[in-house]
Amino acid sequence: MTIAITTAVPDATPAAAPKPAKAKPAATLEDKFARLGLRKNMDFVLHLPMRYEDETEIVAMRDAGFRGGSMLQVEGVVTECDIQYRPRRQLVVTIADDTAQVVLRFLNFYGSQIKQMAVGARIRARGELRHGFFGAEMVHPSYKMVNQGAALPTALTPVYPAGEGISQIMLRKAIRMAIDKVDWRDTLRPELLTELQLDGFEASVKLLHNPPPDADQYSLMEHSHPAWERMKFDELLAQQLSLKRAQAARRSKGATALPLVGEFSAAFLMNLPFALTGAQERVLAEIRADLKQDFPMQRLLQGDVGSGKTIVAALAAVQAIDNGYQAVLMAPTEILAEQHFRKLAAWLTPLGISSAWLTGGLKKKEKDLALARIASGEAQLIIGTHALIQDTVQFAKLGLVIVDEQHRFGVGQRLSLRNKGLSGQVPHQLMMSATPIPRTLAMTYYADLEVSVIDELPPGRTPIVTRMVDQQRREEVIARVHAAAQDGKQVYWVCPLIEESEALQLQTATDTHAMLAAALPDLQIGLVHGRMKAADKQAVMDAFIRNEVQVLVATTVIEVGVDVPNASLMVIEHAERFGLSQLHQLRGRVGRGANASVCLLLYQGPLGGTAKQRLMTMRESTDGFEIARKDLELRGPGEFLGARQSGEAMLRFANLETDQWLVDKARQLAIELLQHDLPTVEAHLQRWLGQKEEFLRV
Ligand code: ADP
Ligand code: MG
Repeated sequence: MTIAITTAVPDATPAAAPKPAKAKPAATLEDKFARLGLRKNMDFVLHLPMRYEDETEIVAMRDAGFRGGSMLQVEGVVTECDIQYRPRRQLVVTIADDTAQVVLRFLNFYGSQIKQMAVGARIRARGELRHGFFGAEMVHPSYKMVNQGAALPTALTPVYPAGEGISQIMLRKAIRMAIDKVDWRDTLRPELLTELQLDGFEASVKLLHNPPPDADQYSLMEHSHPAWERMKFDELLAQQLSLKRAQAARRSKGATALPLVGEFSAAFLMNLPFALTGAQERVLAEIRADLKQDFPMQRLLQGDVGSGKTIVAALAAVQAIDNGYQAVLMAPTEILAEQHFRKLAAWLTPLGISSAWLTGGLKKKEKDLALARIASGEAQLIIGTHALIQDTVQFAKLGLVIVDEQHRFGVGQRLSLRNKGLSGQVPHQLMMSATPIPRTLAMTYYADLEVSVIDELPPGRTPIVTRMVDQQRREEVIARVHAAAQDGKQVYWVCPLIEESEALQLQTATDTHAMLAAALPDLQIGLVHGRMKAADKQAVMDAFIRNEVQVLVATTVIEVGVDVPNASLMVIEHAERFGLSQLHQLRGRVGRGANASVCLLLYQGPLGGTAKQRLMTMRESTDGFEIARKDLELRGPGEFLGARQSGEAMLRFANLETDQWLVDKARQLAIELLQHDLPTVEAHLQRWLGQKEEFLRV
């Protein structure tokens, strides 16, 4: 019989540690569960194992060595239990069975554990066996004190996602209690289950918490067991239902129709220095059709880096202004917002359209003036950063919200801008992104979005040539930069990403700048990074735009949107540290003019598997959609979209790539249920969503 179960506590503070002077009231168990999203009984019941452990077998210690590296379970009697002080304080317990001995090592431990594991006690320990200096050992195994002959579990042991201060034991207990209390009625009728070939809800959930000994272990671990399929289906159905409902809710809201393509639009088009591409014409027509409706547009405009989204957005804005409404354009960085402002103001001011500009960096006086002009309606086009979503910003008559590089904003940020319309009305919304989302993903994650795609680049672009260069050849790269600059071309030099430390990243940027300035004394070398004052940043960017600075050393602040067509060489240092979409965005800063452009990916070898794949993908493709597909393949959809995106927060069990067939079934059923069976819709959403649904109303 098992008498006590203990798990080593990796980060426990020693009992003697002094209490902080002002201790916060200790979080209750309820709080701790709530942090895991566990509030109602059904939340506990649907808190399913993230994996299973096989504790059904004990390995003789003599044989354990042959299984080195994998998780295994041994059982033995304590022959020694000591605290050692070298190299640091640790508890070292030796246990032996009839065949050999194993050392258990605990770097953090309680006094009570020493008593528990006294010589003569019997321990069942589970962990990874390593061969240390003193023979076979396990570091921080999970263990139980047992009596001789204690029964082994006959089935897999579930392991739940846990949180701070919550052990597996506590979770198991709470889940067991909840299982006795919930309403188990299936949300799907028996005929439906037969038709869809799905198992019942209750049987599936119970099986996953307590797999019977004869359950197929592999399919349980791999999430392909029919019980898992039922969970995935339910989850996907909830997602589809809720997205469709959000769509219906949006359509029922009022928006002002903005049908008039008037004088401003005509004059703007007349003065454009170029003709729109076919793709731009097509998406413009799609947007115009939306703006005619009296419910809010919600459209995602996707187009590769440099495909010309800004002009399309500007045309939409001008149409709103033609109809007597304001349009606002929000961009994720000050550099980009300022660039948009200058470009659009240069286009629109001559037509008699007045614009305003709002970022966090404005002086109080300027800011107050801008706010007044926005509130009075004098400013027709408003451009800025997330400063636009603050409460102090009030629009006179907001008709259209445009969010550039929308993936850089959180759902909440986009929502609060949309809430700034006239009371009872929701402005039309256009979101733009150069991080293309493959179609299948777009359909599942953005069931509530219309999607337009610009799939054509403006004419006259020469493709960017991309090369991988070992950083040992840095001298050659510097020589190449020099040659390019002497040839009248301009260069970006992107500093390595150092995620752990912003300070270190700035240091590297400054060092790189100094290094290049010393190596290329006849050139002007500029530096921009995120910590500079907005005005200083802008001064450097301006000098670069005027070609007074030939080489711009930059951190990733230039990642999005920056448009300097004369720049045709880009060097990215430590390219192996960047993600694919980030590399693609960065590279998109060149290749914008008539000059043939080159991007050099400096890397430090040896390259790991995925890093190599990423760089090779960059070398082989300049097509953002192709790169996005590859990115998705390398990272999986969760990480690809980021936790910020809608819908994602809901999918715990289903995998959009491997479970596509379930997605299709769920989508079909969602449509049917919404038409014919609202009680089921309610019951299902109630069970699976609770308060999470708000997330979806992007
Ligand atoms: P992105 O889609 O990455 O936001 P931009 O809107 O910044 O791209 O456009 C990239 C560049 O292409 C800009 O300099 C823009 O003026 C130019 N451009 C846009 N549309 C056309 C077109 N139809 N013909 C020629 N140049 C264009
Ligand atoms: Mg852009």
